[in-house]
Amino acid sequence: LERALRNYPSATITLVSDENFFLYTPLLHEVATGGVETRHIAYPIRRLRGKRKFDFVQGEVLDIDLAKREVIFEQAPWLHLEETASGVLHYDYLILALGGTTDTSQLPNLAENIFTLKNLRDGMVIRNHLIRMFELADTETDLKLQKQMLTFAVVGGGYTGIQLVAEIRSFIGRSLVKGYTNVDPAMVRVMLIEEKETILSGEEEELASVSLNILMRQGIEVHLNTPVTRAWDHAIELNHLGVESMETVIWTAGIVANPVVASLPVEKDEMGRVVVDQYQRIPGYSSVYALGDNARFTDSTTGTVVPPRAHYAVRQPKTAVSNIVRSIQDKPLKQYRYRPGVKLISLGPRTAAISIFGFHLSGFLIRIVWLIGYLGIMMGSYNRIRVVIDWFLALFFGRDSTLLSIKR
Ligand SMILES: Cc1cc2nc3c(=O)[nH]c(=O)nc-3n(C[C@H](O)[C@H](O)[C@H](O)COP(=O)(O)OP(=O)(O)OC[C@H]3O[C@@H](n4cnc5c(N)ncnc54)[C@H](O)[C@@H]3O)c2cc1C
Repeated sequence: LERALRNYPSATITLVSDENFFLYTPLLHEVATGGVETRHIAYPIRRLRGKRKFDFVQGEVLDIDLAKREVIFEQAPWLHLEETASGVLHYDYLILALGGTTDTSQLPNLAENIFTLKNLRDGMVIRNHLIRMFELADTETDLKLQKQMLTFAVVGGGYTGIQLVAEIRSFIGRSLVKGYTNVDPAMVRVMLIEEKETILSGEEEELASVSLNILMRQGIEVHLNTPVTRAWDHAIELNHLGVESMETVIWTAGIVANPVVASLPVEKDEMGRVVVDQYQRIPGYSSVYALGDNARFTDSTTGTVVPPRAHYAVRQPKTAVSNIVRSIQDKPLKQYRYRPGVKLISLGPRTAAISIFGFHLSGFLIRIVWLIGYLGIMMGSYNRIRVVIDWFLALFFGRDSTLLSIKR
């Protein structure tokens, strides 16, 4: 947007974000399992801005008044100051890119009893928790309790759940069990729980079946057709039948739109995402665009709904920006076209699976392809170099199991 508006010296651009960094979420599961250092997937917005001309406000958007064209935000509520600065931004054009959040509405009290993986803090919390379980299990003499500490469940067999469970298995098998000599590796259970009859539902069957076989070969217990029907502090109930005791349930089953977006008085889908037209605008509000995970875009030629994935979230801004410039210039707008890309899924540090032109391949070489592909859409050479170094260090020296207490 900044580049496109350079010929308009009176234009001002403001980026509002609750974090002062850009987070590269596709590598979050590697942060949660010690493969990549926490800050290496976060790129400071001030560094990104450099000499570019846009204002940045670190603030949480509380509401958007579409009729008055206002964005209402609060600065730094997390500092818990007695008085937080709040503000209102007036806009001529607005781009909504607030993303989504993990859906924990399926069961009562779910949010209190599970971990989620959506932001950097979640990644740090999960990593610390996994290590803490081994610290506790190492000195635990009650075998029942020790088993409970060494049972790890990931709920949701989509991309996030699969990539995360494979990394957890590897973190435990290649790093943690080596350091905790009182822990019998046979006591460790890593489970993937999916309510549908297949993992990667909605993707090609072959890719799902290749991935499933790899996960099972890694020693992950995969439970298909198994909805979680209740969740407590130290246990979950599976399919209204058995209760499994455990200290770790990571919920990756479903996302919903950001609550600010979900509360807008416009048409939304069942996930709370705003429905946008072929030009990525909200119908009835021709100067408001929405993209990425908080928008529902249906390709008019194929009828396909764009999935909430990083590849599309980084492509959609091009059309939105071009349309803003075109509307300033009174030119006809451009339609966004959805082109399904190559399907790539990482299955731990040494293997990945790919689906390309109807072919399905997996193995170490595909993992290298995965690494290169994901580095390609990552922001900043500085972070790319740091991530590559982390990957090599973890591959040859194992992952770091330093337990960082982040409680205040
Ligand atoms: C663990 C994990 C793994 C994933 N792996 C893959 C993968 O391998 N491949 C793939 O294609 N996709 C993957 N995804 C999905 C991908 O990350 C998302 O599709 C993509 O990040 C969506 O981009 P976005 O800009 O729409 O939203 P986001 O990336 O979620 O960005 C939204 C931004 O808005 C900020 N924000 C939220 N609320 C407020 C507020 N009220 N006020 C101010 N700012 C706010 C957030 O801090 C964030 O910076 C993964 C997602 C997760 C969680």
